Amino acid sequence: MDINIKRHDEMRQGEAWQPIVQIQSGTKKFYIESYGCQMNFSDSEIVASILQANGFSATTQFETADLVLLNTCSIREKAEQTIRKRLTEFRKVKEGRKGMLIGILGCMAERLKAQLLEEEKLVDIVAGPDAYRSLPILIAEAGSGQKSVNVLLSREETYADISPVRLNGNGVTAYISIMRGCNNMCSFCVVPFTRGRERSRPVQSILEEAQQLFDSGFREVTLLGQNVDSYYYTDTGTNETVTFAKLLELVAAISPLLRVRFSTSHPKDITRDVLLAMTKYKNICRYIHLPVQSGNNRILQLMNRTYTREWYKAKVDEIKKIIPGCGISSDIIAGFCSETEEDHKETMDIMAYSKYDLSYMYFYSERPGTLAAKRYTDDVPEDIKKRRLAEIVALQNKLSLQSNQEDIGKIFEVLIEGDSKKKKDEWMGRSTHNKVLVFPKENFGLQKGDYAFVKVWSCTKATLMGRIENIK
Ligand code: SF4
Repeated sequence: MDINIKRHDEMRQGEAWQPIVQIQSGTKKFYIESYGCQMNFSDSEIVASILQANGFSATTQFETADLVLLNTCSIREKAEQTIRKRLTEFRKVKEGRKGMLIGILGCMAERLKAQLLEEEKLVDIVAGPDAYRSLPILIAEAGSGQKSVNVLLSREETYADISPVRLNGNGVTAYISIMRGCNNMCSFCVVPFTRGRERSRPVQSILEEAQQLFDSGFREVTLLGQNVDSYYYTDTGTNETVTFAKLLELVAAISPLLRVRFSTSHPKDITRDVLLAMTKYKNICRYIHLPVQSGNNRILQLMNRTYTREWYKAKVDEIKKIIPGCGISSDIIAGFCSETEEDHKETMDIMAYSKYDLSYMYFYSERPGTLAAKRYTDDVPEDIKKRRLAEIVALQNKLSLQSNQEDIGKIFEVLIEGDSKKKKDEWMGRSTHNKVLVFPKENFGLQKGDYAFVKVWSCTKATLMGRIENIK
């Protein structure tokens, strides 16, 4: 069956989006699920804002939705398989609900484009990460029976003028997307192909969003980007240039009660200025996510990570010297093309050297279209990949427990984010080092969004348990 596809990649570069079709307001419901990285969660809040501005209201029940959206990740094959499986769970509901539309957003949409409509007949709309402004048009066309696609990548789009609608939020912590895309070309990564070139969002719009969040009770913002350290914005009016270090200070200056976090840093771009900015403001959290991916120089070169293990270790040393006690986490890939047992041991060694508090750990999954897929053979057998990953996970569990055990007896300033998952009479919050603490509420009359000083009595590898010593 030929599918009549309305493509939107004829829109001229930077052409402002003008709604062609007005949607009946207020009657339609949308349901959205986000997968993968924090950027996708943040994007889903942008999508929610665009839909609400076009008369949709959000629902948490997909059975009652007129529009179901999956905001997808494509970083590993498994992430895409998860989406394909999830789609099958909507089949019955869609067959029973006339006019229900299903849309695929995010990196899988961008990677597969119109092919996704061929492969997944249930899908009506395919929209890439830079195409969300055109959603009302895509929905109107799909609603008239015409499957629609927009996977145009942009060099300007930052959605700076769109105020995200906070989904699933705890009302205390929020993401602020400060830039989009990535100019690094790590050979294993699809992101440069699915999210395009780097562009930094105007500094004023970031500060306004952070101020609005603070004024509405949020007490922590995480500045988001694939590679935040390369944030670089020049105001065409004043010709003033704002680097990431400067941006950190500007956001932190909003209020000492507003915590500032950021993610993700590419080791080659995190500058001394950023570290010094972190020491200048107590409310810039003492935590850095610093993906290493591998500990072996030959593999780092094949990955096109542009640093050596020695260089990375020196960066860890510099961080710990300038910010003593700074929490560091990482990303690790096991079993990259041609990785030997010796190479693997060097990854374990750099983990032990860096004493990560936590890491996101995966085995290599070849992604079509990437440099690695074109140039290298995915030659490490899966059982060896899995065994090496298991060793990496076991080591990280040991490092996490050690790091938490060293905190027993210490007192941390904790931002209360809400009830602990297990007990309603306990608070859950995090320290500046991004460690999770749970502690009894007792009679301090605290609310979520308040700060408390908590003494640590015990721990697991994931959590510190303590009692309130004092309140701020
Ligand atoms: S820095 Fe590398 S791994 Fe990270 S998003 Fe960019 S290309 Fe991918």
